[in-house]
Amino acid sequence: MTSIRIKTTKSFTFDAAHFLPNHKGKCANMHGHTYRLDVTVIRDNGKLCNDGSDEGMVIDFADLKAIVKAEVIDRMDHKVLNDVLPFRTTAENMVTHIFGILTDKLQSTGVIVDRVKLWETPDSYAEACYE
Ligand SMILES: [Zn+2]
Repeated sequence: MTSIRIKTTKSFTFDAAHFLPNHKGKCANMHGHTYRLDVTVIRDNGKLCNDGSDEGMVIDFADLKAIVKAEVIDRMDHKVLNDVLPFRTTAENMVTHIFGILTDKLQSTGVIVDRVKLWETPDSYAEACYE
């Protein structure tokens, strides 16, 4: 029988301003986005936690929310991203950065970041995941 792997995703939104120096178009000017962030996690065996408070879960949604809020949302919400991030604030660079932060933070919990999507607009996103 084929085994299945269970993943869970939690979504967040935050508002931020940024501009892209040297951009050939209007993104060179300061402007804002309501970003949406989708964080998908999995346990390393694709199974669920089998005891304790998290039994039957990948991770408690409340715990995932607290980590993403502290590590990402609180640092970026209502900020000028160019002031708080040390790289060109494209969605691609941001999602790479967020994937790394969350991977480090979740390492001790046995939970792996499977995929992160950062929506810059309702129809445009960048995503980071393993090959
Ligand atoms: Zn923009």
